Amino acid sequence: MSNDDCLFCKIRDGKIPATITYRDDDVLAFKDIGPKAPLHELVIPLRHLASLADAKPEDAALLGRLLVVGAQRARESGQAADGFRVVMNAGAGAGQTVFHVHLHVLAGRALGWPPG
Ligand code: AMP
Ligand code: ZN
Repeated sequence: MSNDDCLFCKIRDGKIPATITYRDDDVLAFKDIGPKAPLHELVIPLRHLASLADAKPEDAALLGRLLVVGAQRARESGQAADGFRVVMNAGAGAGQTVFHVHLHVLAGRALGWPPG
């Protein structure tokens, strides 16, 4: 499934450049263009899913894969010894600006709580 106007579908399809750090049959990870921490990557499903707000029971395995790959990237980065954070903004009011589901993976600095 795809969306012609979707930025992350274009990254998935190689139409917009990105620094890809991981790819398999279900999931893609790449560096965030505006990093908010020394490690800041986005993990997306290859299949276009606009928002976690639209998640259905049949999406459970795919959404779980995002977490597993996020943890793998945090470990592989070497910047997660003191912990890392995963964030998924769902909806404009929560800060979602790109409507293709993505898990932020952040590490490498002290991460305050609660987030803004
Ligand atoms: P969100 O605000 O949760 O929807 O996150 C969208 C993220 O996408 C932001 O952290 C942006 O910095 C990031 N972003 C936007 N355009 C690109 C791009 N071309 N390549 C990589 N990351 C991007
Ligand atoms: Zn998309």
